[in-house]
Amino acid sequence: MQANLILCGGRVIDPVTDTDAILDVAVSGNRILAVGENLRSQNAEMVDCQGFLVVPGLIDLHTHVYWGGTSIGVDPDEHADKSACTTLVDAGTAGPGNFQGFLRHVIEPARVRILPFLNISFAGIFAFSEKVMVGECSNPELLNSHALLEIAEQHSDIIAGIKVRVGRYASGTSGIQPMLMALDACEELDLPLMCHLDEPPPDRLAVVSRLRAGDILTHCFKPFPNAPVRLRDGEIYREIYEARTRGVIFDIGHGAGSFSYRTCRAMLEHGFKPDTISSDIHCLSVNGPVFEQLTTLSKFLALGMSLNEVVDCSTRKAADAINRPDLGRLVPDCEADISILSLEQGNYSFFDVDNEVIESDQCLRPAGVVKAGNYRRLTGI
Ligand SMILES: [Zn+2]
Repeated sequence: MQANLILCGGRVIDPVTDTDAILDVAVSGNRILAVGENLRSQNAEMVDCQGFLVVPGLIDLHTHVYWGGTSIGVDPDEHADKSACTTLVDAGTAGPGNFQGFLRHVIEPARVRILPFLNISFAGIFAFSEKVMVGECSNPELLNSHALLEIAEQHSDIIAGIKVRVGRYASGTSGIQPMLMALDACEELDLPLMCHLDEPPPDRLAVVSRLRAGDILTHCFKPFPNAPVRLRDGEIYREIYEARTRGVIFDIGHGAGSFSYRTCRAMLEHGFKPDTISSDIHCLSVNGPVFEQLTTLSKFLALGMSLNEVVDCSTRKAADAINRPDLGRLVPDCEADISILSLEQGNYSFFDVDNEVIESDQCLRPAGVVKAGNYRRLTGI
């Protein structure tokens, strides 16, 4: 097979194959062909990646990109380009009642691959803005398992899982009921659940103890209340350890109110690292403190995780969380999705949702992207 695109001489990092070395990556059509030394070929488009990082296509596991269809959404291609992401997982912005519009008007025309979780609420996250804020799970009339099943089965080729938001703000007096309905549907559909928990009720124990292997607890390093750790002495709650042992996936989902350095430091001190790092980009987090996915990843470098670990949390582990082993790795025959990044040196201030700041001397920036074999320069190269 002939290569038609070769990324030359970048620092290739792929935790799947334990690779971290100066190498070339060859692409044929929309597939990875090879990773190795001196793969150069006269007939292929050559991109000089010297001085840049070449990593599997970044996946942001928690985004809201139903732009224009719901007030929470941001433009998917804009968000993807700012972070050299090749896949955005939409965290249940659309429900069964407005999924078709999401598909036709946003998912299909977008350059970036969008894999949606379907919201248990018929209307999706329909009223999330500075001026109007209504929890989509607070009205039981919006919850209908038949409608959910019908749309999820119709679009099983693209729907990655079911999303539910519970807590004082998202489910109000419905409490944990929407989660129980969503879990029942997940059993029927054989799909993972992504669960958001804000402030009680319900409480952490009731929610976390019900998550199954492969389900995703997003906002996993949130501040008090319903934090995973007792902040006064750094003691991680037993149900959190038990969930990890069971195979629940701990996803960051930074957002405007769901990621605090204080919680994160307490977790990391016990060696409890997130499985996946995601932005939870939406209308109220895009202008800070989130901005985009690379800033989110850079915060974890500043908090002491290694570059390889951070890459793993936004590539292979994110792909595995949505059962897409063809994504998130630079392995022959996998999808030719590649992110080209620069690790810039300078002075950076990163804020969390409590306005705590950490200073850092490095930040990841987008340089280029290969999506399904097509290279696009972003900046830098
Ligand atoms: Zn979200």
